[in-house]
Amino acid sequence: MTAVPATRHRPGSDAQAAELARFSRLFYERGWMPGTSGNLSVRLPGEAADTALITASGRDKGDLTPRDMVAVHADTGEALHPGALRASAETSIHAAVYRTTQARAVIHVHSPYATVMACRTADRERLSTLELTRFELLKGLGLDAQERTAVPVFPNWPHVPRIADEVADHLGGADRCPPGLLIADHGITVWGSDLAQARNRLECFEAIFQLLAIGVD
Ligand SMILES: [Zn+2]
Repeated sequence: MTAVPATRHRPGSDAQAAELARFSRLFYERGWMPGTSGNLSVRLPGEAADTALITASGRDKGDLTPRDMVAVHADTGEALHPGALRASAETSIHAAVYRTTQARAVIHVHSPYATVMACRTADRERLSTLELTRFELLKGLGLDAQERTAVPVFPNWPHVPRIADEVADHLGGADRCPPGLLIADHGITVWGSDLAQARNRLECFEAIFQLLAIGVD
């Protein structure tokens, strides 16, 4: 059976689907999306902004094509056209970010240094925070106050919607959240006004976590 592209009939979806495939390959080649892990999403432009495209679950992230994207309701993560392609359970975390921030693109990867710091700093039973100060790279995160921030670290609950609920509670109730969060023993989620900005912020986060992981004082 030939898969019908889940992105059909939505203006702007072809270009966004191609961007998702391109960025997935980039992160896969860096070793930030090993195997089928990780997921990227982007809101469609204009009147279709209530829809997001997200990388399909269970697909090799180095080998995605524009047809391997699933159209979902951005605020709920529910598929628009349930079919052969499935959105990851982690879509609920993307939806939590879309509901509570101005994000138009969300990237979730298992980049190594973010994961190291998520392991080292987590309280596995409750939300904790990782304070970041001083690094010049903080300027790359688009913070209101550039000299410091506190990155939330969520427990890696087996039932992913529970993580998503805690993410929504935290982001919806806090004034000055950085555009990223960690999940204990798992990875990082970063967002921005488009995929390029989210990628830039992810690179800054990963570089800061590398400095912390290798032990700068
Ligand atoms: Zn993950």
